[in-house]
Amino acid sequence: MKKDFKYKCDSCGQIYEIKKDLMLCQKCREKDIEGKPLKGILKVQLPEKFKNTLSSNKIINIYDYLPIEEKYFPSISVGNTPLIEAKNIQKILGFENIYLKFDGTNPTGSYKDRASYLVSAFAKKNNINEIAVASTGNAASSMSGIASAAGQKAFIFMSESAPKAKLVQCLQYGAKLIPIKGDYDKAFDLSLKFSERTGYLNRNTAYNPMTIEGKKTVSFELVDQIGEREIDYIFLPVGDGVILSGVIKGFTDLLYLGRIKKIPQIIGVQAENSSFIYNAFKNNSYDFNYKASTIADSISVNVARNGYSAVKDLKVVKGEMILISDEEILSSQHQLSSSSGVFCEPSSAAAFAGFLKMKKNISQDKSVVILLTGHGLKDIDTALRSVKLPQTYEADINYIMKNLH
Ligand SMILES: *Cc1c(COP(=O)(O)O)cnc(C)c1O
Repeated sequence: MKKDFKYKCDSCGQIYEIKKDLMLCQKCREKDIEGKPLKGILKVQLPEKFKNTLSSNKIINIYDYLPIEEKYFPSISVGNTPLIEAKNIQKILGFENIYLKFDGTNPTGSYKDRASYLVSAFAKKNNINEIAVASTGNAASSMSGIASAAGQKAFIFMSESAPKAKLVQCLQYGAKLIPIKGDYDKAFDLSLKFSERTGYLNRNTAYNPMTIEGKKTVSFELVDQIGEREIDYIFLPVGDGVILSGVIKGFTDLLYLGRIKKIPQIIGVQAENSSFIYNAFKNNSYDFNYKASTIADSISVNVARNGYSAVKDLKVVKGEMILISDEEILSSQHQLSSSSGVFCEPSSAAAFAGFLKMKKNISQDKSVVILLTGHGLKDIDTALRSVKLPQTYEADINYIMKNLH
């Protein structure tokens, strides 16, 4: 760890040296964390000497702002994903500046690679070769792929009901796959117990501080890519709420560094039937018995492990949460694919659906970024619900010309 970088407890503010065995604040952590949001989440703090040192004409080298030196990262290229101006959608909706940040172009096809990449570097630096993780699917395929690039071994705890492509990815990357009878929340707790018994590094989202830190990198890229213009709105999908906290952490760092003057309006989007963070944000109460069910598997989370921190972070930056239905997710996925060439996961389409729902309250000259967190090919079965496979034609040109509608 670079020695000027520290951990700071998100609840009590206690400062810690970054150490390999330290995952949660010693004072705030709870003994029994099964099925609950985590208390005492640690966030990486930039060195004080960094304050106001990143002027707008300076090129950003992201490794300068991460707690692990560049030489420990595996040689696979993560991040620097395209920011695409959605010209056809702009035309249809009458907006001037809609941008799609497509993280499906990451090596394993999702935003999760940003976190896995930093976790892998952290493990390498600490001479750890085994990494355990629980996942709804993408954290698993991501950790498997990045670990294989680093020569590390990933141990995956995953619900047996995860989309097949994500399971196949893990196996192709050579990970040890442990599908369990039970949901993601069960897998989360089992993988922690597994790490306790084996001493393997645990990459669970929110629990491992490198996950929020790794997920901040998108904010640095966005500021770089958008150039002179400021970003007014960012729509992003929310499951455990680590992308949400990561993006906010990124902009908070950029503010500290003097690169930006204001944090964009952050809008977190959840599915109507997977709304743990939305409910907590709106009602200030946490339902530990909440049960989620949405077709968007990556954001189907009962109890969000980063629930407390995500709600707090969103309140600090005066962000907003909104809900959309599964039908809206399916239709926005297809609308996005067929009008922009970007085929994303249902969970990512949720972010676009959130924008469609809220757009009447947004002035058309504002700049809007939609965070598309995963590739559409990861879950073909769900994508097939909003399109129809055509009947086969006779292999005869006259027949085709006659019957083509
Ligand atoms: C994990 C994931 C999310 C949700 O991220 P959280 O940090 O759990 O809120 C959204 N989209 C995709 C594609 C994901 O893999």
